[in-house]
Amino acid sequence: MPTSKISPYDVIIIGAGVNGCCSAYTLAQAGINVALIDQDGIASGGSGAAGAFISPKISKAGELKEIMSEAHAEALEFYTTNFPSFTLVKPLLHVANTPEEGEKVESFKHETHLKHSNIPHKIQTLLSDEALNSASIYFDIGAVVDAQGVCSAMAEGIDFYPLKVEKLIHTNGVWQVAELRAKHLVLSIGAYPKLLPIDYVGLRGIWGHRIDIETATHIPCILHHHVSISPTTKEGIVAIGATHNVHYSPFSGEPYDVEEGRKALLDKASKTLKLNNINIVKDYTGLRSGSNDYLPMLGSLVNAEATLVKHPHMRYGQSVDPSEYIYYPNVTMINGSGGYGFVLAPYLAARLKEYIVDGKTMAPMLSPSRFFSRWVKRKK
Ligand SMILES: Cc1cc2nc3c(=O)[nH]c(=O)nc-3n(C[C@H](O)[C@H](O)[C@H](O)COP(=O)(O)OP(=O)(O)OC[C@H]3O[C@@H](n4cnc5c(N)ncnc54)[C@H](O)[C@@H]3O)c2cc1C
Repeated sequence: MPTSKISPYDVIIIGAGVNGCCSAYTLAQAGINVALIDQDGIASGGSGAAGAFISPKISKAGELKEIMSEAHAEALEFYTTNFPSFTLVKPLLHVANTPEEGEKVESFKHETHLKHSNIPHKIQTLLSDEALNSASIYFDIGAVVDAQGVCSAMAEGIDFYPLKVEKLIHTNGVWQVAELRAKHLVLSIGAYPKLLPIDYVGLRGIWGHRIDIETATHIPCILHHHVSISPTTKEGIVAIGATHNVHYSPFSGEPYDVEEGRKALLDKASKTLKLNNINIVKDYTGLRSGSNDYLPMLGSLVNAEATLVKHPHMRYGQSVDPSEYIYYPNVTMINGSGGYGFVLAPYLAARLKEYIVDGKTMAPMLSPSRFFSRWVKRKK
């Protein structure tokens, strides 16, 4: 913990997952004095568990698709330029795992600007009949990053404080977190318990398990099917992941069944190809934090109590323009990236920097306060 320079900072970031680390890196690059806090260390939450594929989201046209495709392009550029030693670039084969997804893959193929081609023969020979007979798209370029390595590299040189934050105090225009002070506060705490009374922010924790294995089978590209199977930045290590379990929560106190998770991963992988002589080297587990509408969150937080005192008729259906809500001063939340945290982090961090440094407005569509009025109506 740095002792020589306790305060003041320009920005305090709580949560050192990919969102916190990438924000800290991007702000520091712009000359901002940042303190980064985490209760468990760098990339100890969902980020440390991630397979960390920088893959396009196969989705239908709309807001989500536009944001995801912009974020995907920015992320490829960001990791390959700034952190090449933690980034492995390989072709990417995405195989649909249901007929409905097959339809999405086919329409994505016609609309995308991303370069794609026929599946090379040597990859076809590896695939199961199910994979060969499903709709698929073979991108010339995909990437996977070393999740823990890249988060640590982004946080290098940033003042890091290993603290569990319990309380946030705001006085005289300054946020105080333990002994630290700053004008701006960034909350990037993933699926962990909220630090402010913001029940309107709808987030779901989605538990995931992935494994690193050694295998005699050579995997020449990144494969996404029922699970992902991929070479990694670590020589000889193949990653398989990840499960999506909405029923298990580490906060429940119940133990997690690692053996069952491993079996689910290997069963799913076997539907894509046959892996020979498998040796499981490491398990990774963690919570993704997904928003109810699948869009990520970047923006200010409404102070619900103060806003309802100012606009009591909101409870009875009165519609109030969001510019009239009362917000916690200079607090920005980054969250809700679901299974695309590594894809979205550079994009969200760049928009955060534009807001804090360049005074640009953040997109209302991404604001966590987009859920507020609906929550008030449901609550009455
Ligand atoms: C198994 C798995 C596979 C995944 N695969 C991919 C993938 O291939 N590609 C991709 O892009 N994304 C992937 N993701 C999703 C991605 O990992 C998440 O979207 C991303 O980790 C979210 O990052 P975050 O920084 O918001 O949250 P987190 O990484 O969860 O970080 C939150 C941090 O906040 C800290 N914290 C919380 N409360 C406090 C407090 N009170 N005081 C101090 N510290 C606190 C926690 O300790 C934690 O370190 C995967 C996730 C999982 C679980």
